[in-house]
Amino acid sequence: MFEFNVITESQTCRARAGLLQTAHGDVETPVFMPVGTRGSVKSVSPEELLAAGTRIILGNTYHLYLRPGCDVIRRFAGLHRFMHWDGPILTDSGGFQVFSLAKLAKISEEGVTFQSHLDGSSHLLTPEKSIEIQTCLDSDIVMCLDNCIQYPATREDSRDALEITTKWALRCKQAWQESQNSRNALFGIVQGGMFEDLRQRSADELMKIDFPGYAVGGLSVGEPAEVMLEMADHTLPLLPETKPRYIMGVGTPEDLIELVALGADMFDCVLPTRNARNGQMFTQNGTVNISNARYKEDTEPLDSGCACYTCRNYSRAYLRHLYMARELLAYRLNTIHNIHYFISFMKQIREAIQADEFESFRKAFYRKLEN
Ligand SMILES: [Zn+2]
Repeated sequence: MFEFNVITESQTCRARAGLLQTAHGDVETPVFMPVGTRGSVKSVSPEELLAAGTRIILGNTYHLYLRPGCDVIRRFAGLHRFMHWDGPILTDSGGFQVFSLAKLAKISEEGVTFQSHLDGSSHLLTPEKSIEIQTCLDSDIVMCLDNCIQYPATREDSRDALEITTKWALRCKQAWQESQNSRNALFGIVQGGMFEDLRQRSADELMKIDFPGYAVGGLSVGEPAEVMLEMADHTLPLLPETKPRYIMGVGTPEDLIELVALGADMFDCVLPTRNARNGQMFTQNGTVNISNARYKEDTEPLDSGCACYTCRNYSRAYLRHLYMARELLAYRLNTIHNIHYFISFMKQIREAIQADEFESFRKAFYRKLEN
């Protein structure tokens, strides 16, 4: 019950519009997936996500495994019913958070041992365990456990991480096949640091294992934006054209449009939601810091071109007031707008690709940012 089809390809670059079909509904690509870390996209309800145009969300295996845990989620036959989200869900493998959040993460060929950041309890995350947890969550798209390294990394460390990633990918594929959950799809994750030949090797090894989709991992880990784009430019064409290509953990609207031009289909990032809670709003004319005194008496909506619930009903002055007073509604209204901005931005990109007007859309996007 998982399929991906490319519907239109741009004539001038590698951008493409496609359709993902999952057991929980269809998703048009390119797509942005809001991050629902602990079974909730912070401060907004599933109804508000839908109204903002969201079709697929991301959940974090590490957080959900530690709290509330699989025993609770199994009673609801998965994360969908537990959190009242009927649409598709992609879950990460848990690896990234183990390395970034947990204490004393120690890697071996078997897996990663770590201590919970919540209570210090010890755990072992193996490829098999990651698949078991994601199966319990009933994720529509399951990610392989990979070894993501920081930037900068030496060639030797990048090579070691890629070798472990390939071995784990093979074990994930076996565990996924044995789970007999044919409703979902397992994606492999390309590693290899910032070394082109290692990226090539990682892609080749994963394609030999054969996955329904591929992600490019290990980007946006502290490298300059141009290095991230160079590495994506090199890696994306190595992956099969008929499979979805997912860039993990990226990025700004500028990053997204450039990565679409390079052939990427799927994205996730905490940027719109986290920045909303910090008062940084994305608009067609660039970012707006809502705490700025210039908005104190501003009766205009945040973004005059935006059709979201927040912009239809509230002024900049009111949003600034809520934010300055630390009212809880500030987080919700800001998040609704930022998610709507990212989702409708991707939708406009898709429409431009389908009309073969991607290049002029890209130019107009940058022109408006300069205003
Ligand atoms: Zn808006």
